Amino acid sequence: MAKEVGYLVCRQGRVYLKQNETLGEAHSVDVSTRCSRGEPVALVHTHNVNPHPSQLDLQTAKERKLVVCVDWKGRITCWKVK
Ligand SMILES: [Zn+2]
Repeated sequence: MAKEVGYLVCRQGRVYLKQNETLGEAHSVDVSTRCSRGEPVALVHTHNVNPHPSQLDLQTAKERKLVVCVDWKGRITCWKVK
């Protein structure tokens, strides 16, 4: 099965910067939340099995105060967790 790929998106002013992609496992990917420039805003990662964020995805988003985005076959959907 394909492995998940994830990356962090950082914001510097009006510019959004995609950070380097990380290759993970079939059902998970551990992405650094450190920006080369700017502040972290979103964690994007691919899903191979379903388009919805997992409980762990939502928990990570909440803990790190980031938007979590799932790339499902090229279509990216984001969730903001309060
Ligand atoms: Zn996920």
